[in-house]
Amino acid sequence: MNFDPASEIQDFLIFGEFGDVNPSITDSSTYTFMSPEKMEELFEHEIEGCFLYSRQWNPTNKYLADALSRMEGSEAAQVTASGMGAISNTILQLCGAGDEIISSRTIYGGTYAFFKNFLPRFDINVHFVDALDLDAVTAKISEKTRVIYVESMSNPLLEVADIPALAELANTHGAQLVVDNTFSPMIFSPLRLGAHIVTHSMTKFINGTSDCVAGCVCSSKEFIDSLMDINSGAGMLLGPVLDSFRSASILKNLHSLHIRMKQHSNNAMYVASRLEKEGIKVYYPGLASHAQHERMKHLMNPEFGFGGMLAIDTGTEKRANAFMAAMQEEKVGYLAVSLGYFKTLFSSPGHSTSSEIPHDERMAMGLTDGLVRLSVGLDNDIARSTERILRAYQRAQAEA
Ligand code: PLP
Repeated sequence: MNFDPASEIQDFLIFGEFGDVNPSITDSSTYTFMSPEKMEELFEHEIEGCFLYSRQWNPTNKYLADALSRMEGSEAAQVTASGMGAISNTILQLCGAGDEIISSRTIYGGTYAFFKNFLPRFDINVHFVDALDLDAVTAKISEKTRVIYVESMSNPLLEVADIPALAELANTHGAQLVVDNTFSPMIFSPLRLGAHIVTHSMTKFINGTSDCVAGCVCSSKEFIDSLMDINSGAGMLLGPVLDSFRSASILKNLHSLHIRMKQHSNNAMYVASRLEKEGIKVYYPGLASHAQHERMKHLMNPEFGFGGMLAIDTGTEKRANAFMAAMQEEKVGYLAVSLGYFKTLFSSPGHSTSSEIPHDERMAMGLTDGLVRLSVGLDNDIARSTERILRAYQRAQAEA
């Protein structure tokens, strides 16, 4: 792959109202028109540089959306008030009663719950499959299939989706491939690999400071326009609008994302390699032992590394709990859900972010009770931090 998302973002200067180097923040829900005719015209079609009402578009959100669009190599993008807002609006825009979705079974628990418990209310039904098994995906395709849904790097097992092959399947059957790229911004460019729509929880790496909840959708102009259509767009009518002050702060953080991703990746690679050398069961796609290591090497934008996420199998729930408590005591980071923060965060997915998935299904996909997920931080001395992780691991093994 020869795509540099960071340079794409940097290759564009935004000037504020007074030549400010940060664009001015729009502090308005509504906008003046110089004539009633102009207002009427805007209700009918888009007018470059004109805004109607901030639930649909506002200039600050547009700056951020445009930067994200350049990052993902999409024609257009929209920002939302959360990652779930991005996912739910995308799906509700694409699917209606009677339609079906084929989804990877290893996805974020909130998305899983939305698919399993919420969508059937609208007669939209989801088949959960092992999306690494293309035959299993193909077996569920029918004329009702509207969407194939995967995470580029799955939560929490870090399975790497075969986006080009899934895109080909989607294209053959008239479906849309929707990819949640939350774990791997800049590392994967799913639209360039054939996906139709990319979503992110910007709450995570893109923002990077764990001080807000936000999301985005990147896709064709046609899809984003449909999402924001005044009369029929899920984004417009369900109203998951991101506040412009938040958009402005996320845009500033976006400009250091490339540096952060490289450091997250370098640190996670160090921790994963060291732990594996100690005989600990580690899931990290940068390790040769990871089942999709070669695929990842082939599909990634290599300069951003293999990502900041890794999972460790401690064997039992008791050990997982003891390990996490010990890591917090050793000041490795925080026992907290979420990811992409500058400090290391850790949680036990089976008892937090994936708890929505029934126990037997979790076992079938290898999401054991002893699994601990780490979002490795930007530590300057990762060797010191790794010693602390090892000490915590040994303490947990001795205690539980
Ligand atoms: N997608 C993934 C992979 C996630 O991990 C999460 C949240 O943890 C979401 C989507 C939902 O994002 P948000 O919490 O911003 O709604």
